[in-house]
Amino acid sequence: MDSMNGKEPNYWRSLRELHDTNSVSEMKAHEFMAGVTDDFNMDNLSGMSRKQFLALLTASAAFAATGCSNYRDKGEIVPYTKKPEEIVPGVANYYASTCTGCSQSCGILIKTREGRPIKIDGNPDHPVNQGKICAKGQASILNLYDPYRLRRPTSGSLSGKMSDLSWKRADAEIRKQLEACTNSSKQIAIVTNPILSPSAKKLFAEFAAKYPTTKQYSYDFFNDENRRRAWQSCYGDAKLPVIAWERANVVLALESDFLGAEGDSIEAIRRFTDGRDVMKSTQFNRLYCVEGAMSLTGANADYRLRLRPEAQLEFVLALAHALVVEKNVSPADKVAPQFLNGYSLKNLSEKYGLSAETLTHLVDDLIENRGKSIIYAGDGLNLSVHVVVNYLNEVLGNTNLYEQNQAQLASATTTPDEFLSLVTAMKGGQVGMVIHWGTNPVYHLPRLLGYADALKSVPMNVSLSETEDETGALCAYVLPTNHAFESWGDYQTRTDVISLQQPVIAPLYETRQKEDILLTWMSADGIHKDAAYHDFMMSHWQNEIHPSLAKKVDFKSFWFAALHDGVVRDSRAKVQERRFLSAALESMGTPQPGKGISVALRPSYYMDDGRYANNGWLQELPHPVSKVV
Ligand code: SF4
Repeated sequence: MDSMNGKEPNYWRSLRELHDTNSVSEMKAHEFMAGVTDDFNMDNLSGMSRKQFLALLTASAAFAATGCSNYRDKGEIVPYTKKPEEIVPGVANYYASTCTGCSQSCGILIKTREGRPIKIDGNPDHPVNQGKICAKGQASILNLYDPYRLRRPTSGSLSGKMSDLSWKRADAEIRKQLEACTNSSKQIAIVTNPILSPSAKKLFAEFAAKYPTTKQYSYDFFNDENRRRAWQSCYGDAKLPVIAWERANVVLALESDFLGAEGDSIEAIRRFTDGRDVMKSTQFNRLYCVEGAMSLTGANADYRLRLRPEAQLEFVLALAHALVVEKNVSPADKVAPQFLNGYSLKNLSEKYGLSAETLTHLVDDLIENRGKSIIYAGDGLNLSVHVVVNYLNEVLGNTNLYEQNQAQLASATTTPDEFLSLVTAMKGGQVGMVIHWGTNPVYHLPRLLGYADALKSVPMNVSLSETEDETGALCAYVLPTNHAFESWGDYQTRTDVISLQQPVIAPLYETRQKEDILLTWMSADGIHKDAAYHDFMMSHWQNEIHPSLAKKVDFKSFWFAALHDGVVRDSRAKVQERRFLSAALESMGTPQPGKGISVALRPSYYMDDGRYANNGWLQELPHPVSKVV
């Protein structure tokens, strides 16, 4: 170090830096990996290959290094751990937030260094996932740095030519069309995923009040609609129970991958494995699995029976016959077993080549563990199977394992008939505008529905999306949206839990949060305000959620504590007493014999419904059953 003789001080961090300035300068220019250059250009890469994936990963890191900015621009955000006010170089901060990768809304902790998110883990204080998350949640950080993210608004894709446009012009033209639709009574269709956010629900209600011809359509490609409808007909409401898997000695999974990619898998895995942990449980649970194709759940089963999905109704009816008629297990009140006549496990075993010994063992096990077992049907099975499964759990007294003070909250989804009406209205000129709220119906909805063709008959189509997709390619306006780590949000999937999402970095590009975009279109002056949704959400919490929770602290203290923890619990939430309605059994269908090959669509463990297809980390993960990469 030379700070004498009026020269500039020369600081160094290693002997190599002191003596070998050229190679150190070169290293500093490439912060992450050798080979990353500032003029990296994906266009120079040949077709998609393993090498390109690796290049994309490297490029993501390079973009991150150059694109970060002051994350504190996005309003008040609160670190999970007590750290100094200002960032300390080299010292990580953790922010509690919510993963938006799927409808489970897991609590997460985002580790940041110098304002840059670098790692995602589960939030151990979140009551549902308790520190556990899936590979998609962990890899979602890569989507933030995805070089294919949209960076600025574009228009004209319908005509095949894309051109950049300013947010100001996009806002003005879209607001004009919204007003024109209102004046001419043309429908404004907003296509969303199921909305789990209390604040976003309020936002949609206010948007519909401002533009009264608005109609909201929502869908989830993989959904539990049959399970909810069956629950509604059996118990009178659609709030599904939360199952205490750890207390079940016997679990029978029917075409259900509850340990893989179905339902609340993170919580189910956590609780189910507690029942297999000798340190936590005195008795190992037993898992029976009846399924058509090998799943992660089937791979973990103690007994696995192979059965085509269409035969599952026959299977549950034969099982009910064995339990209620043959073994005389008490049926639920006022339920006559006539509908079980004609079914038997013996016939089923011969017809489908199932092991009679395993079936006998299953029946005995279920009887022996009455009140301590669970029968669980997969999301893909039809409504009648779910009704019989609810009945069987009632008969066996397994409803003991439903949490009494907690239930899952349902979010309404649009039926296929309603989507058909939308398509008809679009083709008939009754729809003046379609807004795709982070959805890609051209990819998800069946092609026979004709959604893509119908879009061409609508005067203005808008896509709010993070990346290019099939729907955006047919929309006149494609508006880029923030990544989840650049956004505010709240999510309620349980009656007694609300999770909070806070931004940990300012937007890397010219993107906006979806909710902010709607607020701009609703505002009197049409001028976008940064953090508009933060203010909207905070005011909703101050005026409605905080008073409803009857907390003893003032709102500001409550709000900062909630942001710190990433979650709020309502210990007063109660679930209505559940009474089985035997009338549900009257409208059951009859088993339809299957022919030829059956196709059962399931979400990919890593790509989900395809939304993670551009995530290099997930592409590199082997399939958990086949081990194929
Ligand atoms: S299951 Fe995975 S993708 Fe879904 S919310 Fe949890 S961490 Fe995110």
